[in-house]
Amino acid sequence: MSSTPVTTHPDAPSTVEAGPAPRRLTVLSGGVGGARFLEGLLHLARREEAESGTVTEVTVVANTADDWWLHGLKVCPDLDTVMYTLGDGIDVERGWGRREETWNARDELAAYGVGPAWFGLGDRDLATHLVRTQMLDAGYPLSAVTAALCRRWQPGVELLPMTDDRVETHVVIDDPDTGERRAVHFQEYWVRHHAEVPAHGVVPIGLEDSSPAPGVLEAIAGADVVLVPPSNPVVSVGTILGVPGVREAIASTPAPVVGVSGIIGEDHVRGMARQLLGVVGVEVSAAGVAEHYGRRGATGSDGATGVLDGWLVDTVDEKAVERLRAGGFACRAVPLWMSDDDTTTALAAAALDLAAEVGRR
Ligand code: GDP
Ligand code: CA
Repeated sequence: MSSTPVTTHPDAPSTVEAGPAPRRLTVLSGGVGGARFLEGLLHLARREEAESGTVTEVTVVANTADDWWLHGLKVCPDLDTVMYTLGDGIDVERGWGRREETWNARDELAAYGVGPAWFGLGDRDLATHLVRTQMLDAGYPLSAVTAALCRRWQPGVELLPMTDDRVETHVVIDDPDTGERRAVHFQEYWVRHHAEVPAHGVVPIGLEDSSPAPGVLEAIAGADVVLVPPSNPVVSVGTILGVPGVREAIASTPAPVVGVSGIIGEDHVRGMARQLLGVVGVEVSAAGVAEHYGRRGATGSDGATGVLDGWLVDTVDEKAVERLRAGGFACRAVPLWMSDDDTTTALAAAALDLAAEVGRR
């Protein structure tokens, strides 16, 4: 539906029927879990637009605390996972990186003895990091660079990094080689050690001194609904909420805030959220994660201002519904496995239904 003004006869009413304002959805996303949820949400939005003309604008605030520098290049795993997934460039099997990838550059680097052996950048993917790094070197902020990359990928959402500042999650581990306790970059813990070494703390370096990227606070304050996909509650959503001002913006937005559990039946689904929840002392259950985020207007289990009105749990976690409702959350149990387009689209619809229920309260 177009809202472009058209020229009318001088006797015609001076305002042109512009159709209803678009529905504005703001989503706080990590990588794979967030991107899959967003696919379902966009499916739903396109279906509704075809059926009823409702136009939906989606803004994604993506985690950037997994970012790191490799071979002099700035790598942004979560931004790229969202961009490639929604832009139809993702390797669907792997869930990250480019489709039809080749690894010549990685192999050539290895032939020079240059690692790390446990983290390769594919040849196609390298182009993204080269463009990004060139633009950063030229002085553009990450948000502007991301917008430029998205002009190619057309993800169908406005994709914003949570911050333009450098923030990097480090994890304190017992080094399996030396036995020493040390902090390693999140990627080393995750990709090299598969989150299998004992971890003692999660340290988001630079987070406290960061500022939200342009548009982030506005997208939260101006949303009709804020959605928290089943992204990692500690190192994805947790870091977004840790950017000064974001948690306050969520606490005060007039929009309902609804989240989806990434924990099904006391364990995570794809990924390694369980390990990190343990490290920060959160009960590994659908209800435990909701209580960790906290109910809006109340204080979460970590002492911070709560951010959620509603929470979706899986049908196997039906018993969590009563516990969360008693705690003041709106809550429903629906299938949460994002195994195909239909279930993912139904999940997005259930999240918006729950938001509507919250809005009617
Ligand atoms: P990452 O940055 O790639 O780790 O991705 P996210 O932080 O966005 O999401 C990772 C989390 O998504 C995992 O910890 C899982 O719990 C969750 N997840 C992945 N697939 C599914 C799914 O099909 N259903 C649900 N409910 N959660 C999922
Ligand atoms: Ca991530």
